Amino acid sequence: MKQLNTTHDLAINGAEPAFTEPLHVGRPSIGDRELFLRFTNEILDRQWLTNNGPVVRELEGRIADYHDVSHCVAMCSGTVALEIAIRALQLKGEVIVPSYTFIATAHALHWQAITPIFADIDPHTHNLDPAAVRRMITPRTTGIIGVHLWGRIAAVEALQSIADEYQLKLMFDAAHAFGCTRAGTKVGNFGSCEVLSFHATKFFHTFEGGAVLTNDDELAETMRLMRNFGFSGVDNVIHPGTNGKMTEIAAAMGLTNIQSIDKVIDHNRGVYQAYSEALADVATVDLLAYDEEESNNYQYVVVEVTDNSPVTRDQIVDALQAENVLARRYFWPCCHRKKPYSDLYPNAGSFLLNSERVSERVIVLPAGPEMDDERVDRVVSIIRVLTSG
Ligand SMILES: *Cc1c(COP(=O)(O)O)cnc(C)c1O
Repeated sequence: MKQLNTTHDLAINGAEPAFTEPLHVGRPSIGDRELFLRFTNEILDRQWLTNNGPVVRELEGRIADYHDVSHCVAMCSGTVALEIAIRALQLKGEVIVPSYTFIATAHALHWQAITPIFADIDPHTHNLDPAAVRRMITPRTTGIIGVHLWGRIAAVEALQSIADEYQLKLMFDAAHAFGCTRAGTKVGNFGSCEVLSFHATKFFHTFEGGAVLTNDDELAETMRLMRNFGFSGVDNVIHPGTNGKMTEIAAAMGLTNIQSIDKVIDHNRGVYQAYSEALADVATVDLLAYDEEESNNYQYVVVEVTDNSPVTRDQIVDALQAENVLARRYFWPCCHRKKPYSDLYPNAGSFLLNSERVSERVIVLPAGPEMDDERVDRVVSIIRVLTSG
């Protein structure tokens, strides 16, 4: 491995950090504070704090409309939304998922004694490779969970035809994909259902929260029961359920943030375009492109370190962090290299070459509210110097 060039004026060589304040990945956008406080006061006056309150129901309606989908079932987190969707779809046995994703995709299955089977990704899209999915199907397979990584919609048509052919359920972890489209169709309309995360670091947040989007009336009703212990009416329990309810205060943050969605997208797109221009002549990293024909939320600026780089991905991340550019590895190591999966399938890596390769190369760059064109240029100059050999 090559040493970083010690003659450069870099923090890692003892110079002052390029930025005095840290630049973060996933810094939350906070909308109109006055509006949030007004909603909060209304909630306190109403003394209706949770249990399917009016703010939650309004938020569900707004999110369903935004995605042109019949139902939005709000939950306390994306992970619980995944668990409830998996249970409502009656998945069991084995379910195929990518390994290059956030660990919750796999955990939501394992937590319910369902075996996640990892299939490889397409290295260009970072999403499930349908051919790899097909290879992992066994008589025990009951479903496929695709992930729309970085908000770029998975190969929904190919996955649906595999699901139809083998009579499998298909659902999506759409944690990154709020508002995103494929061929103009909004997320929420693919597979049996799709799960959003509203965690504070996501494009749209409710502090903690999530939701399932679906056009299936019966499935939506089952999930509404399951998120409230299975209660149907005051004293009548008709399902095993859990507590997946979203609070009113979380929904108030959501109603606040939904007002500024367009502003956040404009900001994110501007930052992404600034990176795109600044990185155009940098051969050592490739920027993952968003399809401008589609709606994107541009929440993640993702680069892959190329073979042209004389230094490693980890050296670049460490040196950027020393400059107060808190760039991050993402989904590294892959799920199959984390416990319990690394113990359960010690040899899974031999089927997951693209997943491993991508996870070794990706860097996510800061793109939040604190970024502007000038800061983007300075971040890119640091990358240029670092990888200039
Ligand atoms: C954030 C995330 C989740 C989990 O959502 P939470 O709201 O944090 O529980 C699941 N899958 C992916 C791909 C995520 O990025």
